[in-house]
Amino acid sequence: MSRKGNLFVISGPSGAGKGTLVARLLEMVPDTWVSVSCTTRSPRAGEQEGVHYYFKTRDEFMGLAENGGLLEWAEYSGNCYGTPRQVVEQRMAEGAQVILEIDMQGGFQIRQKLPQAHLVFIEPPSMEVLEARLRGRGTETEEAISARLEAARLELSRKMEYDYLLVNDDLDVAAQKLADYVNKMAEGN
Ligand code: 5GP
Repeated sequence: MSRKGNLFVISGPSGAGKGTLVARLLEMVPDTWVSVSCTTRSPRAGEQEGVHYYFKTRDEFMGLAENGGLLEWAEYSGNCYGTPRQVVEQRMAEGAQVILEIDMQGGFQIRQKLPQAHLVFIEPPSMEVLEARLRGRGTETEEAISARLEAARLELSRKMEYDYLLVNDDLDVAAQKLADYVNKMAEGN
């Protein structure tokens, strides 16, 4: 069956398990490719330049945005995050299933620019589970955790505007559902 290039936005509160699900998806669906975003946030322990993010100063980031280098960008919890435009367009043209793991503000910008994009929202089982996961990371200050919980409430209030909602309570089940959705869209159903 022939597959065409597609764009998938994966959003959901920080701590909902997007990163783990996307990693599973990449293993399960061979023609997927995940975009690496630019950010002004400082690297967390273990994060590598060009692997997790391209780390930029605010000036560098704004320069990129002004020169049309970003397909979308948004401010989230006090930092800027954006999707490099050229490489994403190139991978789509090559026929890849391109994955953007971005926030909801970015997702709505993508829908405006590329209405054929598929918007997937990953929901945590509950706010309590989300909070426990955020605290369990042990990387964030109390202030940063509060900001992320507030951002989560906002995102959850608009989840119905996304194309596909996925509750991440059982990782294996959720990963399989995500892979099935990507395959179905890739085959043009
Ligand atoms: P974190 O700081 O936890 O890595 O990411 C914070 C939020 O920014 C997450 O919801 C993540 O999906 C989102 N994000 C990461 N990259 C981008 C991007 O390129 N654009 C937008 N709009 N959001 C992004």
